[in-house]
Amino acid sequence: MRIALVAHDKKKEDMIDFAKRYKDILAKHELYGTGTTGKLINEEVGLPVTRFLSGPLGGDQQIGAKLAQGEMDMIIFLRDPLTPQPHEPDISALLRLCDVHCIPLATNLGTAEVLMRSLKDREY
Ligand code: PGA
Repeated sequence: MRIALVAHDKKKEDMIDFAKRYKDILAKHELYGTGTTGKLINEEVGLPVTRFLSGPLGGDQQIGAKLAQGEMDMIIFLRDPLTPQPHEPDISALLRLCDVHCIPLATNLGTAEVLMRSLKDREY
């Protein structure tokens, strides 16, 4: 599966921890990420990640464009619900496209873990 990983700044530690815990599962899939998130996962977890622009510079929109073209299968987007984001419209657009195209979307660690377990069980 083609999986996009995105984390807002205050959620980046959580994302790294998550990627470490599910490294074996994630390693079997094609990973994409926004600029900083992708770089951190690559450097700190050792997983290959195709990186788009940083989120505030258009990275979320790039992921949305891939998704709209049928080229993205799952989104793990650890959002920070307590901090205003300058690129809020881009974030909303990406979440909306997930619903339009029925793409599994996790916006918190609980759902992200359920999705990882489903990947493990189903051997996509
Ligand atoms: P970043 O973007 O991974 O480049 O920090 C994430 C975001 O804020 O959408």
